[in-house]
Amino acid sequence: MKKLVFAMILSILGSTALSAAHGPGKTEPIRVLLLDGQSGGPYHAWQLTSTVLKKELEDAGIFRVTVVTSPRFGEDFSNFKPDFSAYQTIVLNYDAPDWPADLRLELENYVKNGGGLVVVHAADNSFPDWPAFNQMIGIGGWRGRSEKSGLLWYFKEGKLVSDNSSGSAGSHGNRLPFQLETRAPEHPIMKGLPRVWMHGADELYATLRGPGENMTVLATAHSDPANHGTGHDEPMLMVLTYGKGRVFHTTMGHDVQALSCVGFITTYQRGAEWAATGRVTQKVPADFPTADSVSLRVAIARMDPAFLNGPAQANPFDGLANAALTAMKKRADELGIGGVAVVAYFEGDKIQSWTSKMLVIGRMRDEPSQADKGANLIGIAYAKAVEMADTLRDSGSQVRPPMTGEFGWKGGVIVHGKNGYLIAAFSGGKSEDDVKISRAGVEELGTGL
Ligand code: ZN
Repeated sequence: MKKLVFAMILSILGSTALSAAHGPGKTEPIRVLLLDGQSGGPYHAWQLTSTVLKKELEDAGIFRVTVVTSPRFGEDFSNFKPDFSAYQTIVLNYDAPDWPADLRLELENYVKNGGGLVVVHAADNSFPDWPAFNQMIGIGGWRGRSEKSGLLWYFKEGKLVSDNSSGSAGSHGNRLPFQLETRAPEHPIMKGLPRVWMHGADELYATLRGPGENMTVLATAHSDPANHGTGHDEPMLMVLTYGKGRVFHTTMGHDVQALSCVGFITTYQRGAEWAATGRVTQKVPADFPTADSVSLRVAIARMDPAFLNGPAQANPFDGLANAALTAMKKRADELGIGGVAVVAYFEGDKIQSWTSKMLVIGRMRDEPSQADKGANLIGIAYAKAVEMADTLRDSGSQVRPPMTGEFGWKGGVIVHGKNGYLIAAFSGGKSEDDVKISRAGVEELGTGL
């Protein structure tokens, strides 16, 4: 009997091993093209988010991802001819205003003929004037979209509705965690997910517009008026068909923190598989978020340098420079003179680089006349500042004869701050007035540097 039980266990183990050999390990990976190279601004750090989006697909164990980076806007696209047909799905981490007509047609035909498309976050800002693209994504925002781009789409009393009111398209509140509500629980991407789950801090896209054709909303989120929201349940996850092609559209994923949410990762991995094959074989992970708790993958979150180092420190000079220039303008107004104010700051005891800022107060030049060749007041103000950067003394202090590029004129003040030198220079009035105005500038800089 013991022998028989042992044999049965062996046979179970054997069959498990056999089925594993026929499982995902043996099948060809799904070929994915991840397209990046443009975004609407530095707030969408596509270089960083592409590495995350690539890793998340690779972590699923069923994808092989090739990143293709396009030329930037305004650059030559004539040699940019990615072979879309070599891939089963294209992931767009990409937000561009327009494309050449032949490239647009390539993508249209690729999807029309059965290619998969995954649209992540600001990729739905792309191409406002390309009708086929807007059919593929269903709804989009920003880049000048308006009621001409289509209806507003959202959920009302449990149903998808459209709204023909006029106005712009695309909005979001502050980045906070929010709940998603599943609207199509039987769809392969959503099967087995909780009805309600918490997404990590992210932009909650709202007021998206578009044709909304052949679109099934898989999940919505309530756009809270207390956080600049619409009060509507906004589409967050969608699937669409375009010709024979399948599209998965997630509006989530602003930054690495948002991308590290297990809810984002799971729906993105499943959405990419579904777009490529029409099926989902991936299980729901054990750490999937619940209705009242966020679940983040630290291994993903730490791919953002800010996770370990904190947010990038703003240069304290930037804020103080504006205040210093304002103080100089106030002093110049009191003295009834106009001209050019410059403030600058460098660290250490010897200048290697500086940060500077300039303000024209009333006039930037004295016009030439018969008797006078005129004066470029910006040039003079900077010449005073650069003389001080070299001598570390107020301008015109005559510690040495002026060199080429300097005038040796008074009107600039330099002081030593906590970690470096603070410089203010003015050009436009009498020397003693220029000095008074410059002193107001360095005093203001000295409050924080
Ligand atoms: Zn964003």
